[in-house]
Amino acid sequence: MKCIKCGYKSKDNRKKHNIILCHICHKFSPDDKEQFKNYTEEKIDSNSLESFRKHMISSGERQKKGMIKKAIKGQLMSRAPFGYKIENKKLVPAENYKEVEEIFEEFLHGDVSLRQLAVKHKLSVNGLKKILRNFTYIGKLKFDNEIYESNHKPLISLTLFNYVQDKLEKLKIK
Ligand SMILES: [Zn+2]
Repeated sequence: MKCIKCGYKSKDNRKKHNIILCHICHKFSPDDKEQFKNYTEEKIDSNSLESFRKHMISSGERQKKGMIKKAIKGQLMSRAPFGYKIENKKLVPAENYKEVEEIFEEFLHGDVSLRQLAVKHKLSVNGLKKILRNFTYIGKLKFDNEIYESNHKPLISLTLFNYVQDKLEKLKIK
């Protein structure tokens, strides 16, 4: 898959009028068939495009990072998890923030069922399970199945969170 104009080899090279081009040569290629033929016959050195290539890749990554940031913000704007509230578009501990640590501790050390614990904290069993698995409480955010560092305040320690994940797994709680 070698670009016919500059010789650059890449899996991302694509076809136009049945001719293989890299995405930079593709981007600048004319649509008219005759002009396109002249364009591909004029060879250039792939090295001379190196700086464009670098720049195009990094701008793509920048765009992706920007999108993730926006999506996380959007997620925050929609609603805050139990124990947090949204203030000036930021996630901050709510009045009941201490209850989060209590829930984690009680689940880990207490001899109570999920149902009893849910009733005690006026939650549904599913709501309780979601809390026990929520990465927000250790200062991270999950988006698109990936975990991202966030700059909001964690409500529990990583150790407590990990112990609870182990217990959930041991009890085979889905
Ligand atoms: Zn090329």
